[in-house]
Amino acid sequence: MKALVYHGPGQRSWDEVPEPTIEAPTDIVVRIDSSTICGTDLHILKGDVPAVLPGTILGHEAVGTVVEMGAGVTTLELGDRVLMSCITSCGRCRFCKEARYGLCTGGGGWIFGHLIDGLQAEYARVPFADTSVYKVPDTLTDEEVLFLADILPTAYEVGVLNGRIEPGDTVAIVGAGPIGLAVVLTAQLFTPAHIIAIDIDDGRLERARELGADLTINNGSVDPIAAVMQLTDGLGADGAVETVRLPETFELCTELVRPGGRVANVGVHGHSATLHLERLWIRDLTITMGLVDTFTMPRLLSLVAEGRLSALAFATHHFPLAETMAAYDTFADAAQSHALKVVLTAEPTKLEPVREEAVAGVR
Ligand SMILES: [Zn+2]
Ligand SMILES: [Zn+2]
Repeated sequence: MKALVYHGPGQRSWDEVPEPTIEAPTDIVVRIDSSTICGTDLHILKGDVPAVLPGTILGHEAVGTVVEMGAGVTTLELGDRVLMSCITSCGRCRFCKEARYGLCTGGGGWIFGHLIDGLQAEYARVPFADTSVYKVPDTLTDEEVLFLADILPTAYEVGVLNGRIEPGDTVAIVGAGPIGLAVVLTAQLFTPAHIIAIDIDDGRLERARELGADLTINNGSVDPIAAVMQLTDGLGADGAVETVRLPETFELCTELVRPGGRVANVGVHGHSATLHLERLWIRDLTITMGLVDTFTMPRLLSLVAEGRLSALAFATHHFPLAETMAAYDTFADAAQSHALKVVLTAEPTKLEPVREEAVAGVR
């Protein structure tokens, strides 16, 4: 089969590799129908995530069809269409029992395209299938659910829920990339009074307005602190969400919020940031951070299925799966291409011939 393989910093290629097989009774093998690329994949390619070893297939967001099952899988059938989230859950460790799947100590957590082969491939092995994948309702297309694999739950759980956004709040979102825009979208589930998007790219701010921000600030030309103070009678925002992953933008968030306000850090930082405790201690701030758990997936799937939430606007570019290399070029050059998320779609096939011998052998 073909897959997008990481070969060390700056090096990727679309390679012929062996097809995955069932390795544990709780595994399934999925034919990837739709996949996408994440900003994290670009980080990996820069060499910022040394845990990813050369030779690893990248990708942690996809929709696919179950083509092979281990003997221990009980809630899925061959042919089921499933959403694979960026987080895998063993279902048995202390953290999985607390729905903190991102912290899984039983072999799950963020493993796809990180610690095991990922989902930018024609086929993928999915461990802990019963507790890790989500059946896609027949009424929904792949594209309607694909971004629930990562950016929507990340924005919703780590930004909106950790930031405890409440009705009537003023929320400032720093960064209007895919994650920041997904915060703009999912913050509206709590009817804030004001959604402020802050970025240095006017094109992204325009998208933030389209998705529901009522105030946008280009912090390349306008002082965002002064603008937010003006809107809030000098108090500051109730909550600020950091999605840029720079020390400066984290520090900015701590300055944007009112006394007693909340800063929710979503950004995946590569450098230390300064926490000005000497000024902040008396302001009673709450600062949260974390990796997504995807425990809200059933809720998000219901909202999408019932037409209350749509992430289709994130799909700015489409490529056949076989052109994943070109899709990376487009995604990495977002400043020029204005890409938010690319959709990689496999060639449609007739009914998948189930690999009978393999299934029989394992069962
Ligand atoms: Zn991702
Ligand atoms: Zn676990």
